[in-house]
Amino acid sequence: MRCDCIGSLKQVPAFDKTMTKNSSFSDPQADIFSIEHARNMDSNDPLRGFRERFHIPLIGGEEAIYFTGNSLGLQPKSAKQALETELEDWAKWGVEGHFHATNPWVDYHERFTEGLCHLTGAKPHEVVAMNALTVNLHLLLVSFYQPSGKRTKILCEAKAFPSDQYALASQIRFHGGNPETDLIEIQPRPGTHVIDEADIEAVLTESGDEIALVLMGGVHYFSGQLLDMERIARSAHAAGAYCGFDLAHAIGNVVLNLHDWNVDFACWCSYKYLNSGPGAVAGAFINEQHTGREDIPRLEGWWGHDAKKRFLMEPTFESMGTAEAWQMSNAPVLNMAVHAVALDLFLEAGLPALRERGDRLTAYLEQAIHDVALKNDIALEVITPADSQRRGSQVSVIAHGYGKSLFEQLSEKGVVADWREPNAIRMAPVPLYNSFEDIARFHAIFLEATAS
Ligand SMILES: *Cc1c(COP(=O)(O)O)cnc(C)c1O
Repeated sequence: MRCDCIGSLKQVPAFDKTMTKNSSFSDPQADIFSIEHARNMDSNDPLRGFRERFHIPLIGGEEAIYFTGNSLGLQPKSAKQALETELEDWAKWGVEGHFHATNPWVDYHERFTEGLCHLTGAKPHEVVAMNALTVNLHLLLVSFYQPSGKRTKILCEAKAFPSDQYALASQIRFHGGNPETDLIEIQPRPGTHVIDEADIEAVLTESGDEIALVLMGGVHYFSGQLLDMERIARSAHAAGAYCGFDLAHAIGNVVLNLHDWNVDFACWCSYKYLNSGPGAVAGAFINEQHTGREDIPRLEGWWGHDAKKRFLMEPTFESMGTAEAWQMSNAPVLNMAVHAVALDLFLEAGLPALRERGDRLTAYLEQAIHDVALKNDIALEVITPADSQRRGSQVSVIAHGYGKSLFEQLSEKGVVADWREPNAIRMAPVPLYNSFEDIARFHAIFLEATAS
């Protein structure tokens, strides 16, 4: 079942010794995938306490090995109280809750500014929590995709998340263009699933005067590749194009510095790594260079109007002059209540520390997959970059020669992962709540499921 593409599989990458203080590691006979060893790593971890603050689903009475936090993050235990507070305030105050609720609803969205700045590397007036992700993408495209003359094209990655593909194609058609010619997709290097930033630069150098916008996923949802967003923004700007990112798989996962990277705009959802609940409020970043501009189009509503005069209900729009100018409607408080406590967990743990733990969990999971390939002599191709600078907390693996029955076997044993036909498994070891023990348990299950 071996195939050429993983000829290097026998060379198992060096295990990162900083992962554990356990002295048994120095013993070459020690099984680093034993439950005992994993528990030891968990008990030495400074962020171990956060797992207890989440509800871990049970499968067959046992805690699930939940690797789909990149699809729907788990529920913080503080979520219920946060929602109840809003329901109680609504019961108690009715409309007066806008001013008298525990967290007054009239400026409820301001609760998220600090957390979003921490997560995105933005200035406070550059971020806003609003709407849903694809909606925000469209609203930002209204402002930053303005095809004119020869400059009509959008550059994106091949196999972008379907919603983004639909959004881009429909925006191009909306402006009278043709997605067949106006959407340029950057393909991964042959034989890999990874995009080389140099290939993006090459297109921008060659035909930059035709490109209006570069819009990419900061972390690719399938491969888990983290792009060099600063480099891409720089080359987009050199070509005279805007540069935006969809951060659905990046926010809360990798460290972002959108302001310093000079990114023009970005949007994200909050139900993946941010754990804010199904369909929870999304967010947007607009670089301060653009927030006060009057020369770019924007769809407007009353919550983008200068807050000081919002309730004067005057007929003409006066912009907030910040990212909030893109905000249209009053805050969906019940939807947002969980977002606030979910972001607090990030502020408490700190994103850099979470990233560091995420790197160790991801390296351990990758090592577990290589170990299973080696022990069972099977072809498991990890398509996520091995370099921790080029990925977040995700490992995508192609199980050559296997089909859905492998995935079903894993699911039966309590592994919650994501399956893509014909044979890809995506797993996200989330540093807030996944443990080294989760990965050791997965190793044993995977080893058994692929033993011939
Ligand atoms: C998850 C995801 C979406 C989902 O869009 P919604 O509008 O939240 O339904 C869109 N784009 C990307 C890249 C995603 O990863």
